[in-house]
Amino acid sequence: MTKDIATLGRTREILEKYGFSFKKSLGQNFLIDTNILRRIVDYAELSDETGVIEIGPGIGALTEQLARRARKVVAFEIDQRLLPILADTLFPYPNVRIIHQDVLKADIRRVMEEEFSSVRDVMVVANLPYYVTTPIIMKLLEDHLPIRGIVVMLQKEVADRISAQPGTKDYGSLSIAVQYYTKAETVMTVPRTVFIPQPNVDSAVIRLTKREKPAVDVIDESFFFQVVRASFSQRRKTILNNLTSQLPNGKQQKEAIERVLTELQIDSRRRGETLTIEEFAKLSNRLVKEWK
Ligand code: SAM
Repeated sequence: MTKDIATLGRTREILEKYGFSFKKSLGQNFLIDTNILRRIVDYAELSDETGVIEIGPGIGALTEQLARRARKVVAFEIDQRLLPILADTLFPYPNVRIIHQDVLKADIRRVMEEEFSSVRDVMVVANLPYYVTTPIIMKLLEDHLPIRGIVVMLQKEVADRISAQPGTKDYGSLSIAVQYYTKAETVMTVPRTVFIPQPNVDSAVIRLTKREKPAVDVIDESFFFQVVRASFSQRRKTILNNLTSQLPNGKQQKEAIERVLTELQIDSRRRGETLTIEEFAKLSNRLVKEWK
Protein backbone atom coordinates (compact mmCIF):
# COMPACT_ATOMS: atom_id res chain seq x y z
CA MET A 1 0.00 0.00 0.00
CA THR A 2 1.31 3.49 -0.85
CA LYS A 3 2.17 6.08 1.80
CA ASP A 4 -0.85 8.10 3.03
CA ILE A 5 -1.21 11.59 1.55
CA ALA A 6 -2.73 12.95 4.76
CA THR A 7 0.38 13.49 6.84
CA LEU A 8 2.08 16.83 7.38
CA GLY A 9 5.31 15.57 5.80
CA ARG A 10 3.82 14.09 2.62
CA THR A 11 1.39 17.01 2.17
CA ARG A 12 4.24 19.54 2.41
CA GLU A 13 6.31 17.49 0.00
CA ILE A 14 3.46 17.47 -2.58
CA LEU A 15 2.73 21.19 -2.15
CA GLU A 16 6.42 22.05 -2.58
CA LYS A 17 6.89 19.79 -5.56
CA TYR A 18 4.13 21.65 -7.43
CA GLY A 19 4.69 25.11 -5.90
CA PHE A 20 1.04 25.08 -4.82
CA SER A 21 -0.31 28.09 -2.89
CA PHE A 22 -3.66 27.89 -1.07
CA LYS A 23 -6.60 29.94 -2.29
CA LYS A 24 -8.59 31.08 0.69
CA SER A 25 -11.45 32.11 -1.61
CA LEU A 26 -11.89 28.42 -2.58
CA GLY A 27 -12.03 27.22 1.03
CA GLN A 28 -8.76 25.31 0.69
CA ASN A 29 -7.93 23.78 4.08
CA PHE A 30 -6.39 20.36 3.59
CA LEU A 31 -6.62 17.55 6.14
CA ILE A 32 -3.36 16.16 7.46
CA ASP A 33 -4.66 13.54 9.90
CA THR A 34 -5.17 10.05 8.54
CA ASN A 35 -7.02 8.85 11.64
CA ILE A 36 -9.71 11.50 11.24
CA LEU A 37 -10.07 10.66 7.56
CA ARG A 38 -10.47 6.97 8.35
CA ARG A 39 -13.15 7.77 10.91
CA ILE A 40 -15.03 9.88 8.35
CA VAL A 41 -14.88 6.97 5.92
CA ASP A 42 -16.07 4.57 8.66
CA TYR A 43 -19.16 6.72 9.23
CA ALA A 44 -20.00 6.45 5.53
CA GLU A 45 -20.25 2.63 5.86
CA LEU A 46 -18.80 1.90 2.42
CA SER A 47 -18.49 -1.45 0.74
CA ASP A 48 -16.82 -2.59 -2.44
CA GLU A 49 -20.23 -2.14 -4.05
CA THR A 50 -20.57 1.53 -3.06
CA GLY A 51 -20.04 4.48 -5.40
CA VAL A 52 -18.80 7.68 -3.77
CA ILE A 53 -19.20 11.28 -4.87
CA GLU A 54 -16.56 13.55 -3.36
CA ILE A 55 -16.63 17.35 -3.51
CA GLY A 56 -13.29 19.13 -3.52
CA PRO A 57 -10.58 16.43 -3.41
CA GLY A 58 -7.76 18.96 -2.89
CA ILE A 59 -4.56 16.93 -3.22
CA GLY A 60 -6.46 13.67 -2.70
CA ALA A 61 -6.11 13.04 1.05
CA LEU A 62 -9.70 11.85 1.54
CA THR A 63 -10.07 10.55 -2.02
CA GLU A 64 -7.32 8.01 -1.42
CA GLN A 65 -8.99 6.63 1.72
CA LEU A 66 -12.32 6.43 -0.14
CA ALA A 67 -10.76 4.71 -3.14
CA ARG A 68 -9.39 1.96 -0.88
CA ARG A 69 -12.83 1.17 0.50
CA ALA A 70 -15.35 1.89 -2.28
CA ARG A 71 -16.02 0.51 -5.76
CA LYS A 72 -15.52 3.89 -7.42
CA VAL A 73 -14.97 7.53 -6.43
CA VAL A 74 -16.05 10.45 -8.61
CA ALA A 75 -14.67 13.76 -7.33
CA PHE A 76 -15.59 17.30 -8.44
CA GLU A 77 -12.72 19.80 -8.16
CA ILE A 78 -13.04 23.44 -9.22
CA ASP A 79 -9.34 24.40 -9.06
CA GLN A 80 -7.55 23.53 -12.28
CA ARG A 81 -4.13 23.77 -10.58
CA LEU A 82 -4.98 20.65 -8.58
CA LEU A 83 -5.57 18.43 -11.62
CA PRO A 84 -1.93 17.50 -12.37
CA ILE A 85 -1.31 17.01 -8.65
CA LEU A 86 -4.28 14.65 -8.35
CA ALA A 87 -3.17 12.74 -11.45
CA ASP A 88 0.11 12.15 -9.63
CA THR A 89 -1.07 11.45 -6.06
CA LEU A 90 -3.99 9.25 -7.10
CA PHE A 91 -2.11 7.38 -9.79
CA PRO A 92 -2.28 4.11 -7.78
CA TYR A 93 -6.11 4.26 -7.70
CA PRO A 94 -7.69 3.45 -11.09
CA ASN A 95 -11.17 3.56 -9.52
CA VAL A 96 -11.02 7.37 -9.12
CA ARG A 97 -12.38 9.80 -11.68
CA ILE A 98 -11.78 13.54 -11.24
CA ILE A 99 -14.22 15.97 -12.85
CA HIS A 100 -12.95 19.52 -13.22
CA GLN A 101 -16.13 21.45 -12.44
CA ASP A 102 -17.85 23.68 -9.93
CA VAL A 103 -20.08 21.16 -8.16
CA LEU A 104 -22.86 23.75 -7.93
CA LYS A 105 -23.05 23.79 -11.73
CA ALA A 106 -22.77 20.04 -12.18
CA ASP A 107 -25.52 17.73 -13.42
CA ILE A 108 -24.84 15.21 -10.66
CA ARG A 109 -27.74 12.95 -11.61
CA ARG A 110 -26.32 12.51 -15.11
CA VAL A 111 -22.82 11.88 -13.76
CA MET A 112 -24.26 9.23 -11.43
CA GLU A 113 -26.05 7.52 -14.32
CA GLU A 114 -22.86 7.50 -16.38
CA GLU A 115 -20.39 6.53 -13.66
CA PHE A 116 -22.29 4.33 -11.24
CA SER A 117 -24.14 1.83 -13.41
CA SER A 118 -22.77 -1.16 -11.48
CA VAL A 119 -22.88 0.02 -7.85
CA ARG A 120 -25.40 -0.99 -5.19
CA ASP A 121 -25.57 2.37 -3.40
CA VAL A 122 -24.05 5.84 -3.52
CA MET A 123 -22.73 8.04 -0.71
CA VAL A 124 -21.51 11.64 -0.81
CA VAL A 125 -18.39 12.05 1.34
CA ALA A 126 -16.39 15.28 1.54
CA ASN A 127 -14.43 17.82 3.49
CA LEU A 128 -16.48 20.69 2.14
CA PRO A 129 -15.20 24.10 1.05
CA TYR A 130 -16.66 26.19 3.89
CA TYR A 131 -17.67 29.23 1.83
CA VAL A 132 -20.35 27.16 0.02
CA THR A 133 -21.35 24.49 2.57
CA THR A 134 -25.04 25.28 2.69
CA PRO A 135 -25.67 25.67 -1.07
CA ILE A 136 -23.86 22.37 -1.70
CA ILE A 137 -25.88 20.45 0.90
CA MET A 138 -29.14 21.99 -0.30
CA LYS A 139 -28.34 21.17 -3.93
CA LEU A 140 -27.61 17.53 -3.03
CA LEU A 141 -30.96 17.28 -1.23
CA GLU A 142 -33.18 19.35 -3.50
CA ASP A 143 -32.00 17.54 -6.64
CA HIS A 144 -33.57 14.38 -5.11
CA LEU A 145 -30.52 12.34 -6.08
CA PRO A 146 -30.63 8.57 -5.59
CA ILE A 147 -28.03 8.57 -2.79
CA ARG A 148 -28.01 6.67 0.51
CA GLY A 149 -26.62 9.56 2.48
CA ILE A 150 -24.04 12.26 3.03
CA VAL A 151 -21.06 12.34 5.42
CA VAL A 152 -19.31 15.71 5.38
CA MET A 153 -16.94 17.87 7.36
CA LEU A 154 -18.13 21.46 7.75
CA GLN A 155 -18.07 24.41 10.16
CA LYS A 156 -19.24 23.30 13.62
CA GLU A 157 -21.64 26.24 13.72
CA VAL A 158 -23.39 25.02 10.55
CA ALA A 159 -23.45 21.42 11.86
CA ASP A 160 -25.17 22.72 15.02
CA ARG A 161 -27.77 24.54 12.93
CA ILE A 162 -28.45 21.50 10.77
CA SER A 163 -29.07 19.12 13.66
CA ALA A 164 -30.84 21.65 15.94
CA GLN A 165 -34.19 20.90 17.59
CA PRO A 166 -37.17 23.29 18.07
CA GLY A 167 -36.85 25.86 20.84
CA THR A 168 -33.07 26.21 20.57
CA LYS A 169 -31.15 29.20 19.24
CA ASP A 170 -29.65 27.20 16.38
CA TYR A 171 -33.01 25.95 15.08
CA GLY A 172 -34.03 27.56 11.81
CA SER A 173 -34.99 27.05 8.19
CA LEU A 174 -31.75 25.13 7.50
CA SER A 175 -32.53 22.62 10.29
CA ILE A 176 -35.99 22.05 8.85
CA ALA A 177 -34.84 21.83 5.23
CA VAL A 178 -32.20 19.20 6.02
CA GLN A 179 -34.31 17.25 8.54
CA TYR A 180 -37.20 17.16 6.05
CA TYR A 181 -35.09 15.02 3.70
CA THR A 182 -32.72 13.26 6.13
CA LYS A 183 -31.97 12.03 9.64
CA ALA A 184 -29.18 14.39 10.73
CA GLU A 185 -26.50 13.63 13.33
CA THR A 186 -23.28 15.37 14.30
CA VAL A 187 -20.91 12.43 14.67
CA MET A 188 -17.57 14.11 15.41
CA THR A 189 -16.08 17.47 16.29
CA VAL A 190 -12.69 18.21 14.82
CA PRO A 191 -9.96 20.58 16.05
CA ARG A 192 -8.45 23.20 13.71
CA THR A 193 -5.00 21.71 14.19
CA VAL A 194 -5.62 18.87 11.74
CA PHE A 195 -5.75 21.16 8.70
CA ILE A 196 -3.23 23.19 6.76
CA PRO A 197 -3.69 26.05 6.69
CA GLN A 198 -5.74 26.06 9.92
CA PRO A 199 -9.27 27.46 9.41
CA ASN A 200 -10.42 30.13 11.87
CA VAL A 201 -13.50 28.14 12.91
CA ASP A 202 -14.05 24.79 14.58
CA SER A 203 -15.22 21.90 12.44
CA ALA A 204 -17.55 18.94 12.76
CA VAL A 205 -18.60 15.92 10.75
CA ILE A 206 -22.29 15.33 10.11
CA ARG A 207 -23.99 12.24 8.81
CA LEU A 208 -27.22 12.74 6.89
CA THR A 209 -29.15 9.54 6.20
CA LYS A 210 -31.71 10.00 3.42
CA ARG A 211 -35.27 9.22 4.51
CA GLU A 212 -37.28 6.88 2.31
CA LYS A 213 -39.86 9.61 2.17
CA PRO A 214 -39.75 13.14 3.62
CA ALA A 215 -40.26 13.51 7.38
CA VAL A 216 -43.72 15.05 6.88
CA ASP A 217 -46.38 14.94 4.16
CA VAL A 218 -46.73 18.30 2.46
CA ILE A 219 -49.13 19.19 -0.34
CA ASP A 220 -46.84 21.76 -1.96
CA GLU A 221 -43.12 21.48 -1.14
CA SER A 222 -42.17 24.90 -2.40
CA PHE A 223 -44.99 26.59 -0.44
CA PHE A 224 -43.97 24.61 2.69
CA PHE A 225 -40.43 26.01 2.43
CA GLN A 226 -41.81 29.51 1.75
CA VAL A 227 -43.82 29.30 4.98
CA VAL A 228 -40.77 28.03 6.89
CA ARG A 229 -38.47 30.77 5.55
CA ALA A 230 -41.08 33.45 6.19
CA SER A 231 -41.56 32.25 9.79
CA PHE A 232 -37.85 32.65 10.55
CA SER A 233 -37.24 35.82 8.56
CA GLN A 234 -37.17 37.97 11.70
CA ARG A 235 -36.50 35.76 14.68
CA ARG A 236 -37.89 38.17 17.27
CA LYS A 237 -41.22 38.58 15.48
CA THR A 238 -44.26 36.40 16.09
CA ILE A 239 -45.28 33.78 13.57
CA LEU A 240 -48.32 35.87 12.62
CA ASN A 241 -46.24 39.00 11.94
CA ASN A 242 -43.65 37.12 9.93
CA LEU A 243 -46.23 35.30 7.80
CA THR A 244 -48.22 38.47 7.05
CA SER A 245 -45.14 40.52 6.22
CA GLN A 246 -43.14 37.88 4.32
CA LEU A 247 -45.56 35.67 2.39
CA PRO A 248 -46.66 37.04 -1.00
CA ASN A 249 -50.09 38.69 -0.42
CA GLY A 250 -49.58 38.08 3.29
CA LYS A 251 -51.10 41.39 4.32
CA GLN A 252 -54.33 40.78 2.38
CA GLN A 253 -54.47 37.27 3.86
CA LYS A 254 -53.95 38.31 7.48
CA GLU A 255 -57.43 37.23 8.59
CA ALA A 256 -57.07 33.86 6.88
CA ILE A 257 -53.69 33.31 8.53
CA GLU A 258 -55.15 34.13 11.95
CA ARG A 259 -58.08 31.80 11.37
CA VAL A 260 -55.84 28.93 10.27
CA LEU A 261 -53.51 29.37 13.25
CA THR A 262 -56.52 29.29 15.61
CA GLU A 263 -57.95 26.20 13.90
CA LEU A 264 -54.62 24.42 14.26
CA GLN A 265 -54.25 25.57 17.87
CA ILE A 266 -50.99 27.32 17.13
CA ASP A 267 -50.80 30.49 19.23
CA SER A 268 -50.26 33.38 16.79
CA ARG A 269 -47.83 34.98 19.28
CA ARG A 270 -45.43 32.06 19.13
CA ARG A 271 -42.11 32.49 17.34
CA GLY A 272 -41.11 30.37 14.36
CA GLU A 273 -38.30 28.77 16.33
CA THR A 274 -40.80 27.00 18.62
CA LEU A 275 -42.72 25.22 15.85
CA THR A 276 -41.95 21.60 15.06
CA ILE A 277 -41.59 20.36 11.48
CA GLU A 278 -44.99 18.64 11.89
CA GLU A 279 -46.59 21.96 12.87
CA PHE A 280 -45.02 23.68 9.85
CA ALA A 281 -46.38 20.91 7.62
CA LYS A 282 -49.93 21.25 9.03
CA LEU A 283 -49.73 25.01 8.74
CA SER A 284 -48.54 25.08 5.13
CA ASN A 285 -50.99 22.33 4.07
CA ARG A 286 -53.85 24.39 5.46
CA LEU A 287 -52.57 27.77 4.24
CA VAL A 288 -51.83 26.60 0.71
CA LYS A 289 -55.59 26.15 0.21
CA GLU A 290 -56.14 29.84 1.07
CA TRP A 291 -53.48 30.82 -1.44
CA LYS A 292 -54.95 28.84 -4.36
N1 SAM B 1 -10.59 16.98 0.34
C1 SAM B 1 -9.39 17.75 0.63
C2 SAM B 1 -8.95 17.48 2.05
O1 SAM B 1 -9.79 17.01 2.83
O2 SAM B 1 -7.80 17.73 2.38
C3 SAM B 1 -9.59 19.24 0.40
C4 SAM B 1 -10.75 19.88 1.11
S1 SAM B 1 -10.78 21.63 0.99
C5 SAM B 1 -11.64 22.01 2.51
C6 SAM B 1 -12.05 22.02 -0.19
C7 SAM B 1 -11.76 21.68 -1.66
O3 SAM B 1 -12.91 22.04 -2.45
C8 SAM B 1 -10.61 22.42 -2.30
O4 SAM B 1 -9.82 21.49 -3.01
C9 SAM B 1 -11.25 23.43 -3.26
O5 SAM B 1 -10.44 23.77 -4.37
C10 SAM B 1 -12.51 22.68 -3.66
N2 SAM B 1 -13.65 23.52 -4.08
C11 SAM B 1 -13.97 24.76 -3.65
N3 SAM B 1 -15.11 25.18 -4.21
C12 SAM B 1 -15.55 24.16 -5.01
C13 SAM B 1 -16.68 24.00 -5.87
N4 SAM B 1 -17.60 24.96 -5.98
N5 SAM B 1 -16.81 22.85 -6.57
C14 SAM B 1 -15.87 21.86 -6.46
N6 SAM B 1 -14.77 21.97 -5.66
C15 SAM B 1 -14.62 23.10 -4.94
